[in-house]
Amino acid sequence: MLQFVLALLEAQATFFSQGHHRATSTQQYRGELGVQLDRMVLEGARKQRDMEQRHAGLRQQVVGGASGEAAPGAPPMQGYLYKRASNAFRTWSRRWFSIENNQLVYIKRARDPPTVLMEDLRLCTVKSCPELERRFCFGVLSPGRCCVLQAVSAVQQRRWMGALQSSITSAFSGGGDPDALPGPHEDPSGHWVLDTVLRVPGNGTCCECREPGPAWASVNLGITLCIQCSGIHRSLGVHFSKVRSLTLDSWEPELVKVMCELGNSALNRIYEARVEEMGVKRPPPGCSRAQREDWIRAKYVHKQFLPRPLGAPLRLHPPPPAPPEAEPPPPSLHPGALLYWGARRRRLLTMAEALAHGADPGWANGAEGNSTPLLQAVMANSLLASEFLLQNGASVNQSDGDGRGPLHHATLLGHTGLACLFLKRGADINAVDAEGKDPLSIAIDLANADIVTLLRLAKMKEMDTGQGQTDATFLDVFRDISLMASDHPEKLTRPHSKSSTL
Ligand SMILES: [Zn+2]
Repeated sequence: MLQFVLALLEAQATFFSQGHHRATSTQQYRGELGVQLDRMVLEGARKQRDMEQRHAGLRQQVVGGASGEAAPGAPPMQGYLYKRASNAFRTWSRRWFSIENNQLVYIKRARDPPTVLMEDLRLCTVKSCPELERRFCFGVLSPGRCCVLQAVSAVQQRRWMGALQSSITSAFSGGGDPDALPGPHEDPSGHWVLDTVLRVPGNGTCCECREPGPAWASVNLGITLCIQCSGIHRSLGVHFSKVRSLTLDSWEPELVKVMCELGNSALNRIYEARVEEMGVKRPPPGCSRAQREDWIRAKYVHKQFLPRPLGAPLRLHPPPPAPPEAEPPPPSLHPGALLYWGARRRRLLTMAEALAHGADPGWANGAEGNSTPLLQAVMANSLLASEFLLQNGASVNQSDGDGRGPLHHATLLGHTGLACLFLKRGADINAVDAEGKDPLSIAIDLANADIVTLLRLAKMKEMDTGQGQTDATFLDVFRDISLMASDHPEKLTRPHSKSSTL
């Protein structure tokens, strides 16, 4: 009996040891397979990026070819358009339009000096206007005005809109021929940041002492500073002001756009609302450090010049350029709720005002499942509002009542640009919600290939596969998606979704 048991044990031991031996022999193969899979994911991401770039290049060529652009130096597009007057009569007149030096200009008669319709195409967007009674209309919108134009045919309308769009793109990437000049794609630390940010109204002089040519910025406030004032801002601590060089530091495209949305004039309307009324004098350029420090501390630490109470109409000149259709915030919101309200509507200036009044970026709205301002910005698919909140101390991992943080929500809503932003800012990819799902499993369930790729790349980065080339590819892919989210959000949206990430 014992002999039989012993024989059985022997046989089992032999079986298991042989099995173990076989399994061990496949270890090398399994390791190789894992490496191969990693490489394939990376290759896939790189190929997708190359295809995107090639596609963008081809589209540019098609647009260029269609507009008849042949001679170098010629305006990218010119021709007759009907322009709707902005007065009460809304009359239409025919004018010769052209795009020159990133401006949209027109002339009434030959030899007339050109009239500039849109001073800076970088700040404009173009959209078709199918709701108008006339056909082939499109609108060019800048923060301050909206201009409606009519082309003579559908083809012309498409050409004009394409030409304006590519002018906007090339203006943002440094102007001129996007193939010839290093734009933000090639040179994220070049002077394009300085040039872009200084073009915003009021940014040409220091926000505090008005010294011309500021080369520094406070990124959470969205203002430009001279070197002396930047030193004092830095001394306040990052809770008040995050100082960065416009020429020496590297800049993410979304942060540059946030800077363009805010600017010295807009921020001073909030932070200096009562300066005139109080009779306080601004420190002049070249003044003493003590003078500067008194002013800057009074303005940002003691907040002495803020309008009171919160939300009170700003009696100031020039008046803030609010679009007429802009909905005013409901009265008597406390700062946290105003920040939440502004984030949902992508209203950066309202958010800046709420923050000036001490809004907590981590305020959770108990009435809406503990949602936060950052989660509201995700709902609104707003890259800029999200970036602005992150710069002002919002936590990238703060979750709502369902245990879902910004990365969960961006994944659920299919907002690739936002998912990329949160990953860059250190979002926890392993965080699970109340249902026990992490962002990757949500993305797989929703079959969102872009976000699955991003999250896989982030996971691989986390595991630190440790190859120099791999790291470069991660950075490349993340940078490309950031740029795309910032410049061409439509490329990141799935065909059935019409939202844009700005
Ligand atoms: Zn200054």
